[in-house]
Amino acid sequence: MVMLPDYTVLDPGLERLTPAQLRALQAERLRQMVTYVYEATPFWRRKFDQAGVVPGDISGLEDLASLPFCTKEELQADQAEHPPFGSYVGADRTRLTKFMTTSGTTGRPLRRVFSGRDWGYVLDRFQRNPRVGPGDITMTLGPVDGLMGPTAGAEGAARAGAMVVLAGLLDSKTKLRLMEEIRPTSVNGTASYLLYLIDLAQEIGINLPGLGIKVVLSVGEPGAAVPATRKRLMDGWGTFVNDGYGMTEIFPLGGGCRHSTALHIASDLVITEIVDPDSGEPVAVGEPGEIVYTNLVGDTQPLLRYRTRDIARLATDGACACGFTGARLRDAIEGRVDDMIWFRGANLYPSAIEGVVRSFDELGHEYEIVIGGSGTLPTLTIRAEMRPGIEEDAKAELEQRLRQGLSAAVRVRSRLELLPPGTLSPCDTHAKAHRVVDKRSS
Ligand SMILES: [Zn+2]
Repeated sequence: MVMLPDYTVLDPGLERLTPAQLRALQAERLRQMVTYVYEATPFWRRKFDQAGVVPGDISGLEDLASLPFCTKEELQADQAEHPPFGSYVGADRTRLTKFMTTSGTTGRPLRRVFSGRDWGYVLDRFQRNPRVGPGDITMTLGPVDGLMGPTAGAEGAARAGAMVVLAGLLDSKTKLRLMEEIRPTSVNGTASYLLYLIDLAQEIGINLPGLGIKVVLSVGEPGAAVPATRKRLMDGWGTFVNDGYGMTEIFPLGGGCRHSTALHIASDLVITEIVDPDSGEPVAVGEPGEIVYTNLVGDTQPLLRYRTRDIARLATDGACACGFTGARLRDAIEGRVDDMIWFRGANLYPSAIEGVVRSFDELGHEYEIVIGGSGTLPTLTIRAEMRPGIEEDAKAELEQRLRQGLSAAVRVRSRLELLPPGTLSPCDTHAKAHRVVDKRSS
């Protein structure tokens, strides 16, 4: 039976390879991977055959584009047809040790399984740049059960010697009071929820910046990658806020560092491509497009050229100041293809609107984007909530400045509604925030 070699993942030197070394390593792993998936998985053999490709055609990174793309819809259909885990599982069933599901909102969740080998690599990846160690207390604010990022984060922190506090089941006030008592050195949660806790802490008289937290890790939504949101988080928590980034389907990918918000992608584990979402053709380096990942090491559910539906651009400025030389996604994730709003011939991402709304201190954290009118004549309304205590004449002036900010950022005509405090429901749980409301009549 065909097997992949055993790779080293724990070595931090893998993040500091020269471009030539990295290309050579990726090319060697890609050759191994295409042979492996062709021999070990009916799914990939079928796709290769349909595309008229054999593993021997792939001798290096320049041949990557001859491999077929793979989409989430295909994987969902394959799992339905070949239950329970799909015909793209390469590892023998007896070697599987972990079961997860994707947390996405479209279609049925994907089942993600890991061999002991692959899960070990996941934890090695977390431990390669340990954020915590012995003496640290790390508190997880959201649910962990069955989710890859939080599970890997918690197991990785425990393996690194930290104490792990799983607080996902507690109510928000209890979480804050527990923080006040046990003084975690790091906490992690979604950006929306971390913002909500800032206000709640103020309300119940807990001084978050005084708690001595060293790192706040924002996960699960682009949040902390939007500069205005990140600033609110850093001000409110009074500490460094990092963005963690990953997808259940692929290996844990990375995050920002103290020098940069660009997401550092573990390039010994995946190849990163940026393509035009419509044509699938690569875009010029530095231009925005859909991120496509090719898994280089995992043997369980290996994915080649997996289309993420996320939009970003590659950093073009060589290595990061921290020494990282792999692929970095600049401006983080600009949005999801699925979230993109086509509006009167222009496309816009909710995160662009978020960036404007949250740069105004007079506004609360919540906002809503309402698309109304009809399919042919849509209207766009941005609803934002004022902080308490804004006088009527200040409101007119605020509205004026906000309107200017929005039209500079999104360049489409929109209506603006400034709402009294407490109108929109707060993001008081870890559930994914839904900020785009489509009320169009067809
Ligand atoms: Zn860096």
